[in-house]
Amino acid sequence: MLDREFFTRMPEAFQELERAFAALPEWDASVPGAGRLSEVLRESARRLGDNYPYFHPLYAGQMLKPPHPLARMAYTLAMWINPNNHALDGGRATSQMEKEAVAEIASMCGFATHLGHLTSGGTMANLEALWVAGLLHPGKRIVASAQAHYTHRRIGGVLRLPFAEVACDTRGRMDPDALEHSLRAGDVGCVVATAGSTAAGAVDPLPEIVQLRRRYPFRLHIDAAYGGYFTLAANLAPETRAALDLLGEADSVVIDPHKHGLQPYGCGAVLFRDPAVGTLYRHDSPYTYFTSGELHLGEISLECSRPGAAAAALWATQRLLPLTREGEFAQGLAACRRAALKLYGKLRDDPAFFTPFEPQLDILVWAPRGATTTEVSGRSREVFERAAGNGLHLAVAHLPAAFFAAKYPELRVEQERMACLRSVLMKPEHEAWVECIWEILQRSMV
Ligand SMILES: *Cc1c(COP(=O)(O)O)cnc(C)c1O
Repeated sequence: MLDREFFTRMPEAFQELERAFAALPEWDASVPGAGRLSEVLRESARRLGDNYPYFHPLYAGQMLKPPHPLARMAYTLAMWINPNNHALDGGRATSQMEKEAVAEIASMCGFATHLGHLTSGGTMANLEALWVAGLLHPGKRIVASAQAHYTHRRIGGVLRLPFAEVACDTRGRMDPDALEHSLRAGDVGCVVATAGSTAAGAVDPLPEIVQLRRRYPFRLHIDAAYGGYFTLAANLAPETRAALDLLGEADSVVIDPHKHGLQPYGCGAVLFRDPAVGTLYRHDSPYTYFTSGELHLGEISLECSRPGAAAAALWATQRLLPLTREGEFAQGLAACRRAALKLYGKLRDDPAFFTPFEPQLDILVWAPRGATTTEVSGRSREVFERAAGNGLHLAVAHLPAAFFAAKYPELRVEQERMACLRSVLMKPEHEAWVECIWEILQRSMV
């Protein structure tokens, strides 16, 4: 069930790694607690069993995707060295691996030049991008859509930059007219566009937003933490394709390898188009070691210590599955979107459900039908519970009722937000499981 057989390859990899250190004199590396280690490890395994089965196709709820077995193995291997990518001296090999892996992501985004690095996740990566935006446009507003990740507002608070929301259309995408209305005030320093919203997988209309930059001087930051990799997928709708083709127009982009990049948690990435922003990070710490004339990653990162193991895992994964439009990695993304479209088609054709819009990526939102938003919210929660009881794990999302009312005018809107069901079909295996998911869903209806 779990990919245990992959771990049988670890001894060979450890031998290879040990060869590099064979000249070291023997030393006594005593391990405190060695006598009880196995017992505690088994106890840990028992505790970890108390989880939803995120790795299985019947987990079709939140945004959780199993790391590639190679990422797990390369991470484990690197942990034996435990390099710190804060500085070249702390992580010589893994700093280089990080630079190579990040350059591949930058090139996937269409950046001709870049400065970038890995972070602990998308939130830290967005914080850095908005910190830079704030230094370049001090005191000016940051605007993001009403469906942008909730952390942008909070980051605005941390950075003490004014933050404002821009309205969305009824598919969850930023409304360009509402954006222009904000821009006319003349005090917007940075527009955050979302390429793949976390709730509904909506991609903001980048062609229109990029166009607005000709008339208004703002920095464009694209939060593509979840959706960025879809630029490699061959089966996007034309408007989504047109938007993702413009990632390279941004001043900064955030992409999370721990979302769709097959990495374990602790791996986000921030990229800047202009490498000169590196000078904004200047610091003069007595702890930082400078034995190399080359710019090291600790000099262009807000975080200090960072796991070299995350870089090793990402580098290995991209070596095995390069970020190309033709490769197996891109085909996996296309399969996820096919899975979402397939399930969408079944729900749309069944009068028992509301389906507000076709998925742009691989996130699908829907709800059991009802006369009022109160009734739909209640039924959504019940179906969620019953499906879980039948072994199918969905998620409940709270979305603007307007998303549904736009397509179903008969729905009586009693609250602005309505609970509905949400599935992130982000495992390529989901495609083959749509029938089974559909069958369990039908059995779980109330
Ligand atoms: C997940 C996500 C984030 C936050 O990233 P973390 O890695 O969870 O910190 C930000 N923006 C979007 C669009 C996301 O999907």
